[in-house]
Amino acid sequence: MSTIAQVVSCLDGYDPDALRVDKAGAAIRACLAPVTQAETVAIRDSLGRVLAQDIVPRINVPGHDNSAMDGYAVRFLDLNSSNEKKETILRQIGAAFAGKVFQGKVQAGECVRVMTGAVMPQGADSVVVQEVCRADGERITIPAGQRAGQNVRAAGEDLKAGVAVLRPGQPVRAAELGLMASLGIAEVKVVRRLRVAFFSTGDELASIGTPLAPGQVYDSNRYTLHGMLSCLGVEIIDMGVVRDDPTQLEAAFAAAAAKADAIITTGGVSVGEADFVKQLMARLGEVLFWKIAMRPGRPMAFGRITSGGHSAILFGLPGNPVAVMVTFHQFVRDALLVLGGRTDSVGVPLLQAVSATSIRKVAGRTEYQRGVLFEENGARKVRTTGQQGSGVLRSMSEANCYIVLEHERGKVEAGELVSVQLLAALA
Ligand code: AMP
Ligand code: MG
Repeated sequence: MSTIAQVVSCLDGYDPDALRVDKAGAAIRACLAPVTQAETVAIRDSLGRVLAQDIVPRINVPGHDNSAMDGYAVRFLDLNSSNEKKETILRQIGAAFAGKVFQGKVQAGECVRVMTGAVMPQGADSVVVQEVCRADGERITIPAGQRAGQNVRAAGEDLKAGVAVLRPGQPVRAAELGLMASLGIAEVKVVRRLRVAFFSTGDELASIGTPLAPGQVYDSNRYTLHGMLSCLGVEIIDMGVVRDDPTQLEAAFAAAAAKADAIITTGGVSVGEADFVKQLMARLGEVLFWKIAMRPGRPMAFGRITSGGHSAILFGLPGNPVAVMVTFHQFVRDALLVLGGRTDSVGVPLLQAVSATSIRKVAGRTEYQRGVLFEENGARKVRTTGQQGSGVLRSMSEANCYIVLEHERGKVEAGELVSVQLLAALA
């Protein structure tokens, strides 16, 4: 197996001290080895999980040609040609309901009353909606202008027996649950849940429930991480706050690597931090220290840590609360989804919106400003949430989107188009 350094050094334009966001993403992706173990669960429990098998229907859905409307099942050949604008009178010989099949066969000049979902009576090929027909006892008058095959759903129109409909690596959402249920599938193989351990580092951190000493701040990062990880359906291992102390940190990293597939830490990677945190990370495995050309979130560590023969991917995020969310959303989220077996596209698309104000920005880094997307006079517009400091978590709370200002871009003038990414899509 090649080392992480070998893998990333092969990437075009890789520069750890001025790493473009797209290069950092590519470097991370190149190093991921997705989980392959699977388990079988009842389909209800597969919601939010990743399929570890194909779904190949054994039956057609629907199982039979059936009526899409309430009306009369007819033989199209029996109807007077639409050009003549002539009505046709047919004799009703029975009725078919959803779940109750008509037993006979429709012969020339006959029709059968059908309800939506009813199996098409033998011999009939088209359904005329009841609203346009006139019934006088069993004499049914059908107006001119009908089309052959109208209002009939074909057997297998939704799902065809033998034709794979879902693939391994796809997430199970509400639609897939329903789809599997429509095939009568009770259990399904899914990728085992990814285990993600995280802890906060910093001597200044207090846990909630304890009073704040002078100079202390409450640890909020573990809570934002808890929230963001919960949306991904991973198994969460919260390891609390770890002091900036070599022995405690080493023990925490070892414990995390032994039980998790991925480790997320916050704090300890910025330039001002004691170097021993980085030295320690580097000693326990292979960890790269990046200065990413982005704001917020410039410093970040990425690598792999091994303990007791078990290794885990490490994301060493900066300590600032907004930087934690931005680096998580832009790098960690996608990486965890891929590690968890997803093979579809996991990225969140960018939309375009008109900037309602000018925005300060210098070329040479990607910025993720917190924005509010809104509609005005039918136009999609966006404004920033105001103060954009990387410690201002309120800017995330007030936002419904990131305003993504591309690497090369300079100042934005009011009225220019900018890219936005919906926070709801990242959840
Ligand atoms: P660091 O990256 O460790 O230098 O931290 C940068 C800033 O983020 C400092 O102001 C820290 O106090 C703050 N910070 C670090 N970790 C946390 C945390 N878990 N919760 C809230 N603030 C934090
Ligand atoms: Mg710190």
